Amino acid sequence: MCVRIFMAKAVVIGSGPAGLTSSIYLVRAGIDTTVISGDQLGGQLIFTTDVENFPGFPGGILGPDLMTKVREQAGKVGAKFLDSTVTEVDFRKQPFVIKTIEKELTTDVVIIATGASALWLGLESEERLKGKGVSACATCDGFFFKDKDICLVGGGDVAIEDALFMAKIAKKVTVINRRDELRATHTLQQRAFNESKIEFVWWSIVKEIQGKDNVTGVKIENVKTREIKKIPCSAVFIAIGHKPNTEVFRGKVDILPNGFVRRVEKSRTSVKGVFVAGDVFDYEYRQAVTAAGTGAQAAIDAIRYLETK
Ligand SMILES: Cc1cc2nc3c(=O)[nH]c(=O)nc-3n(C[C@H](O)[C@H](O)[C@H](O)COP(=O)(O)OP(=O)(O)OC[C@H]3O[C@@H](n4cnc5c(N)ncnc54)[C@H](O)[C@@H]3O)c2cc1C
Repeated sequence: MCVRIFMAKAVVIGSGPAGLTSSIYLVRAGIDTTVISGDQLGGQLIFTTDVENFPGFPGGILGPDLMTKVREQAGKVGAKFLDSTVTEVDFRKQPFVIKTIEKELTTDVVIIATGASALWLGLESEERLKGKGVSACATCDGFFFKDKDICLVGGGDVAIEDALFMAKIAKKVTVINRRDELRATHTLQQRAFNESKIEFVWWSIVKEIQGKDNVTGVKIENVKTREIKKIPCSAVFIAIGHKPNTEVFRGKVDILPNGFVRRVEKSRTSVKGVFVAGDVFDYEYRQAVTAAGTGAQAAIDAIRYLETK
């Protein structure tokens, strides 16, 4: 296969809110920038419907429309796009080498913005009802279920934080957990146990999410007694964790034990000239606006780095 080599001053890996925002800042600072999009052009938001918490859209905006606009904005200021996936990187010496399926690029700076993917239960009914009451983001979609009964699957810190968040919005929150104890920190557990709107269903797994056009309930199984039970609800939040997209960076930059990229100084990774933005390092906030914000930070840090180089 003939590998064509391209040179760029900056390469942004990922085309979600973080990557595209980085590219806007880099290009506007006069830096030749290529965005390698990956297989999700626009990132996670292309899988959602209404986004009501991104500033500037008082009537809300559809996720794919928002990301089409951001990509258009990046292209308009001069970002170049390579709609491919990074398969290998070499950060051992400058210029860095980035390999995609068909092409190879060399570059002085890299911004890693490959995001993270929510972990799902893997049920057919879950897939079918995603965006119709099934969600992995209570902060994003919770408001759509104001005063409704909702179920939440999980037992870690994020799940319990989400349950407490939803207790302020929903009528009732049923937390479904496959054991009889939570993994969340003791303080979070106590807050959840003291919250009258939160009910726990122990030793249970979701067998099916019910509903045709929208979620109407869940069918759960008690793993000890095999008893099947139905819980009526309008939404099911899956809070069983996120997997950062870091496979190609393992052994190339420092990765935290939880799998997310480690920031060493501001937005810089353990390698000088390699920066990180968005959900691939930020396991705490995971919002489009925070991803865009850290995208701007990474670009500004990269611009300053290039100036001193
Ligand atoms: C269903 C759903 C609804 C949501 N709703 C909202 C909401 O209403 N409001 C809100 O603020 N947030 C919402 N979020 C969260 C929000 O989408 C994320 O926080 C945000 O997209 C993170 O941006 P990012 O740029 O860091 O990563 P992502 O959006 O995940 O983008 C990652 C990018 O990296 C690319 N990539 C991955 N691996 C490679 C590789 N090897 N080579 C090249 N490219 C690669 C992908 O193709 C993608 O373009 C929602 C998330 C989901 C899943």
